[in-house]
Amino acid sequence: MLSEEEIEKYKKAGKILKQVREYSKTLIKKDALIIEIIKKLEKKIEELGGKCACPINISLNDIAAHDCAGINDTRKLKKGDLVKVDFGIHVDGYIADSGYSIEVENNEHSELIKCAKTALENVIKILEPGITLSEIGRIIEEEAKNNGFQPIVNLSGHSIERFKLHAGISTPNFDTHSNFKIPEGTVIAIEPFITTGKGVVNEAGKSKIYEMIKKVPVRIDFVKKIQNYIEKSYNGMPFANRWLSEAGFKNVDYALHNLVKSGSLNSYPPLREITHSPVAYAEHTIIILDKPIITTK
Ligand code: MN
Repeated sequence: MLSEEEIEKYKKAGKILKQVREYSKTLIKKDALIIEIIKKLEKKIEELGGKCACPINISLNDIAAHDCAGINDTRKLKKGDLVKVDFGIHVDGYIADSGYSIEVENNEHSELIKCAKTALENVIKILEPGITLSEIGRIIEEEAKNNGFQPIVNLSGHSIERFKLHAGISTPNFDTHSNFKIPEGTVIAIEPFITTGKGVVNEAGKSKIYEMIKKVPVRIDFVKKIQNYIEKSYNGMPFANRWLSEAGFKNVDYALHNLVKSGSLNSYPPLREITHSPVAYAEHTIIILDKPIITTK
């Protein structure tokens, strides 16, 4: 079980996240550079005493997740973009994970956005110690289908542990008929992804997000230096290739490719809905107790 002190740290991370999330809404505008938005948000997180537990994801339209600002990214937001903003913020390893969807000067997808939000709220209402994964998935699937949409079946929520953004438990976005019961004291991020398409994503394009899984010995000197830096800077949590470039490293993508091949890193490329249909999402982090605590609300 979590101690009072640990719960306080989870709440503190959540409080920082809420402030950064509100601030982000003022930056999502037509013609805004994605890299500038993200740099401003990263600065805000630091000012408030938090750290990134993963790169801030800004994923557009049919990209469901795992997109972020790349090295020398020149992309701007356009009128009509369906933007998903996803934050992972930690205080001393205690993580808050939350995000939302918003359209740039448009209302074409307001039903889709509302559906993801309602699905999340419906799950939060019934969370209690011992709730089954099946029940969580069923509620999300039902809300999606009742509105004529599909849940994304190969994306899921997840439990969180100290310095572990994705710990052991995955919570489905559809009814998997799993009778696994979530134990009391589990910290869980629920994140329904809803689409007008088929409800499946696959990897699209180059990864900008990586995570260290093992410190495999490497021979090339500058790759070894980058590996050491990753180990001491990110505590096994996901990071952006851009951060290494900004820390002054050269040939970052070559080094990361090498580290992925050697089995030291995992890469997380952007995930696109297979029929290229728009995707909306919403996410909160909840500590499952008799009286659940939504740390990010
Ligand atoms: Mn999450």
